[in-house]
Amino acid sequence: MLLKTILNRIEHYKSFVYGKVRMLEEDGKLAIEVEVEARANGKPICSGCGHPAPGYDRLAKRRFEYVPLWGIAVFFCYAMRRVDCPQCGVKVEQVPWAEGKSRLTTSYRWFLSRWAKRLSWQETARVFGTTWEHVFRSVKYAVSWGLKHRDLEGIEAIGVDEIQWRRGHKYLTLVYQIDEGCRRLLWVGKDRTTKTFLRFFRMFGQERSSRLRFVCSDMWKPYLKVIAKKAGQAIHVLDRFHVMSKMNKAIDEVRAAEAKRLERDGYEPVLKHSRWCLLKRKENFTEKQAVKMSELLQYNLQSVRSRLMREDFQRFWEYYYPACAAKFLDEWCTRTMRSKIGPMKKVAKTLRRHRELILNWFRAEGVISSGIVEGLNNKAKLTMRKAYGFRTEKAIAIALYHQLGDLPETEFTHRFC
Ligand SMILES: [Zn+2]
Repeated sequence: MLLKTILNRIEHYKSFVYGKVRMLEEDGKLAIEVEVEARANGKPICSGCGHPAPGYDRLAKRRFEYVPLWGIAVFFCYAMRRVDCPQCGVKVEQVPWAEGKSRLTTSYRWFLSRWAKRLSWQETARVFGTTWEHVFRSVKYAVSWGLKHRDLEGIEAIGVDEIQWRRGHKYLTLVYQIDEGCRRLLWVGKDRTTKTFLRFFRMFGQERSSRLRFVCSDMWKPYLKVIAKKAGQAIHVLDRFHVMSKMNKAIDEVRAAEAKRLERDGYEPVLKHSRWCLLKRKENFTEKQAVKMSELLQYNLQSVRSRLMREDFQRFWEYYYPACAAKFLDEWCTRTMRSKIGPMKKVAKTLRRHRELILNWFRAEGVISSGIVEGLNNKAKLTMRKAYGFRTEKAIAIALYHQLGDLPETEFTHRFC
């Protein structure tokens, strides 16, 4: 069977035909060149306006890289025509297998970008004998196509979170759709300021924002402010995960200070190796940790008391009626304010300040389940860890959209992978 036969089957163009196919050796590697010719009766298409136009002249032959066959690089060779367009002037023609000045065919770009979802960009480049740059451009192409063609209708619930992409307070703001049945990354923006988050709403549009029913966030002030302003009608829920992580941070602070104090006062270092014990939930203890915990319980330590407070607070999430949950929350805060443990008192104050938003958790019950935003954010972190070689937040944003955006892809006559 001829290569041309396969190509005519999987990559057929109305106004172009495949010519000679030859194999050659380049830098010690095999390559296949496929000549492409325009049909004699076909008029070239202007790349400026997309309309047929009279021919002007012909440029030198160019090569377009196609999907490799059996590890052999494949190129289309074609001498581009220029047109004399009545509207656009002299322009290079538009060809169906590639866009703009790209040296890669569109099929090859989709091929690379699909593999780059499964492998790291570096591995993709290595496996297919191409460069990181080519993989990057391919993914970028797929992402911008996807963003242009995605459907943003019917979104009722969103969650916002930040992610650190570089040391030294370099953050990105990520907005997710968290509707039942459709969870995806909607937007990435630099920094975590009011301005950043406002940019999301500008992209999203007033109309769609007014149809949001739930918004989930942490206690970061700029986010709270923007949500109140742009989606005031939605139920704003403070994420359970973020509330508990605030508490864990407080416990950690208490433990560190107390361990220092004990050491200074010459007591036994009972708090050594206790960090995970104090932070973990009882159900998840290993045997060793259970022993350690019962040992710790014999002492009247602030760390242990803080931990018990948090354990007590877990019950909060099990309430069904908002009014009962509210009563519990208030009592818990009162108890904690009497505890004389600074970091825990701070948590109680924060909870009091955000009382209504936290109670919204119960008003949204059944719609926003715990950990959706957390789960998506963990995936985002994983993507960033895998994505070495990114120097700019633009490249990171592209990688994130690519992995988590659930973006549509163009229709193919043939799927390569
Ligand atoms: Zn034109």
